[in-house]
Amino acid sequence: MSIAESTAAVLKNIEAAALSAGRDPHDILLVAASKMNDAERVQQAIKAGVPICGENRVQEMLEKNSQGAYEGAKLHFIGHLQKNKVKQVVGLAELIHSADSIPLISVINKEAEKKGLVQDILLEVNIGNEDSKSGFTPEEIPGILAEISKFSAVRVRGLMAIPPICAVPSENRPYFERMKQLFVDNSVKKYDNVYMDFLSMGMSGDYQEAIACGANMVRVGSAIFGARIYK
Ligand SMILES: *Cc1c(COP(=O)(O)O)cnc(C)c1O
Repeated sequence: MSIAESTAAVLKNIEAAALSAGRDPHDILLVAASKMNDAERVQQAIKAGVPICGENRVQEMLEKNSQGAYEGAKLHFIGHLQKNKVKQVVGLAELIHSADSIPLISVINKEAEKKGLVQDILLEVNIGNEDSKSGFTPEEIPGILAEISKFSAVRVRGLMAIPPICAVPSENRPYFERMKQLFVDNSVKKYDNVYMDFLSMGMSGDYQEAIACGANMVRVGSAIFGARIYK
């Protein structure tokens, strides 16, 4: 399948998953996880209807951005972000999905202030409580949201999670459901600089499950671009 065909198929699956969950397909945003795909391939996906690209590595994002890879789409940062690379991401990526510690958020805030803008972020939740993954615990989220008011150049727009790798997509349901509950519970109380708009979860193997459980942003890579070849 070509990238155009795969993109069309993914968009169709998103629509079907939304409809069967009784939701408006327009409420679900597709983020194409475009790591390891060059500017030309990224452009093919955008021309086929991908509205947002998500990158994992700062250097790769800067390089591809200078080649015009993201023209016609929005750009998000979805990978683990090191504090010393924040400067290059703030203001370039419309949304940072992977805010996983207060020290990192503090650096993002400082950089956004310097640039005179407000940076949108998602709080990453380590929903599987895995040592190998970063992110806040679900229990930490209310306290973090309350603390965000200190950071006037940062705006929390929701939550993001990468559940444990599962053999079958349906095994991730409990994690997705827990994330949805966390999202709902933390949307009740209003905090300064916090808008619970987006719940980012679901990847190529399980985005339909994630949508069934309440995701409104899915990050899909290989189902659009094909398998990544790691050298
Ligand atoms: C690569 C990546 C994805 C997409 O993974 P696929 O399984 O290829 O769809 C989603 N989220 C993050 C954070 C990623 O790094």
